[in-house]
Amino acid sequence: MRFSRLFSYTTKEDPKDATLPSHKYLVKAGFIKQIAAGIYDFLPLGKMTFDNIRQIVKEEMDSAGANEVTAGFVTPCELWAESGRINKMGDEMLRIKDRKNQCYVLSPTNEETFVDMVRNRVKSYKQLPVNLYQINTKFRDEARPRFGLLRGREFVMKDAYSFHSDESDLDREFNLMEETYRKIFTKLGLEFRAVMADSGAIGGTGSKEFMVLADSGEDTLAVCDSCDYAANLEVASRKNPKKENPVKTEEIEQIETPNVKTIEEVAEFMGVDKHFIIKAVIKKAIFADKEKIVVFFVRGDDELEETKAKNAIFADDLVDASEEEIKEAGLVAGYVGPFGLDSKIDYIIDDDLRGADELVAGANIEPYHIKGASLKEANILGNVTRYGDIAAVKEGDRCPKCGGRLKLTKGIEVGHIFKLGDVYSKPMNATFLDEQGKAKAFIMGCYGIGVSRLVAAAIEQNHDEFGMIWPKEIAPFIVDIIIGDVKKSEQVEFAEELYAKLQNAGVKTLIDDRAERFGPKIKDFELIGFPYAVVIGKKLKDGIVEIRDRKTLEKIEVQADEVFSKLMEML
Ligand code: ATP
Ligand code: MG
Repeated sequence: MRFSRLFSYTTKEDPKDATLPSHKYLVKAGFIKQIAAGIYDFLPLGKMTFDNIRQIVKEEMDSAGANEVTAGFVTPCELWAESGRINKMGDEMLRIKDRKNQCYVLSPTNEETFVDMVRNRVKSYKQLPVNLYQINTKFRDEARPRFGLLRGREFVMKDAYSFHSDESDLDREFNLMEETYRKIFTKLGLEFRAVMADSGAIGGTGSKEFMVLADSGEDTLAVCDSCDYAANLEVASRKNPKKENPVKTEEIEQIETPNVKTIEEVAEFMGVDKHFIIKAVIKKAIFADKEKIVVFFVRGDDELEETKAKNAIFADDLVDASEEEIKEAGLVAGYVGPFGLDSKIDYIIDDDLRGADELVAGANIEPYHIKGASLKEANILGNVTRYGDIAAVKEGDRCPKCGGRLKLTKGIEVGHIFKLGDVYSKPMNATFLDEQGKAKAFIMGCYGIGVSRLVAAAIEQNHDEFGMIWPKEIAPFIVDIIIGDVKKSEQVEFAEELYAKLQNAGVKTLIDDRAERFGPKIKDFELIGFPYAVVIGKKLKDGIVEIRDRKTLEKIEVQADEVFSKLMEML
């Protein structure tokens, strides 16, 4: 490709709304253009990069035996009513009416479509398993579309759906997809981790997420430094971090603690380690049919993990409770503790507090705390004590698997694989005849990859202050031949010859033949982030050209007649 013919423009100014490098650079380098909030056009360089990623995803899915299809983007509401999701999906699912007043959905995901594609076509266990995938547009009316391609409203996903006669065949396919995803992200040249994950609203029994490691990631991962344990913080667990309290109290004491409310204040006032103070986190839990105030108790040096807390009480959501709501529930803010708590109040205590003693907690009366309390006896709280794993794992906690140290890192979710079971096939009446000739609902799995999100995730992991640094595997062009001065015919001739040679060798090459000065050409090379540039400038007279490595910013002078073989070596 000739730069002079490439529909490409780079700009000097940063886009106003961009906070992350991927967003800023993709817009500045003319890869994408915003057309509405969370909706982007892909310009030529963006499209080339996207297609390179798409191709790698496709190749690996095909070689794992999945079949590519394309489903309609607009789906009828009746399908979503059949699974029952029409009411559950909320505002992220955009519904539209056609001229006949029929209801349709801009697909945010496609489980229903694929169940409908398979039911009544696959009739016998003999036709199973089936794995179908598409690489297609999705629409989610995200509350806060942001970060460019990382969280768009319109985006492209690779979504696959597999159908099986039993759970063990689903397990086999789930493992095959995990292996396939590892191959895909390795081929894309990205540093990633597969982690245990929350199954969220899609439901099902098991799920894993694939995370591209990057400081800007919205997810936090707990990774063991000595074994393969890795989990999203939303599900991560640890060995109980209990310590011995050096201060022994013989009896339970009630202590007057005026204006001593926060954990820090209590620790200071009582002269105890925060570890031995029980912290109360008050939330409003939302369920399909009701709302209620729930108190979560964790150690004073821990934080509540909201997804774990939500799952522990089977709520749809947890939100902050207002001062009014806390008062109405009969709770004394700042002095809430599990001992002597009104029996009407719902509560849950972190698992790691089981059997703990020497504890300090709010006395549920203003202004008192109690000291020397114990959770050793099972029914200490008057009714059955409820425990759950609700505390967030911290950096340095012990791995639940091997006892090693857990480290926290940030990641961008680029893939998610689920075991669905019959959650969709059963309500949608999608059955096959098993070996005994009995009708049985398909056992399903589903497997997503954020293809357009990957364009941005690759940059979040690979960039510097000058611009993007594309991994070779997905770069729009591998080599950028920069002609220092297009008025010098010997430079042009040499560049054209090298361009032809590289193209014949199958190397994706761009020749910067624009009548521009050298400075802006190098700036563009650095911003766009092609892996290599060959600079053909003044030194050509002495038989020398320069190779620039975008990643290391190294400049290597080579003999002009050796540059081709040197490049082939580097690639
Ligand atoms: P997130 O937690 O980031 O909102 P999700 O868990 O809702 O994502 P899934 O339903 O698991 O997403 O979708 C599969 C994949 O699609 C995700 O792993 C992600 O890579 C991609 N994806 C999801 N939402 C978006 C979005 N708004 N913009 C771009 N890609 C997305
Ligand atoms: Mg997900």
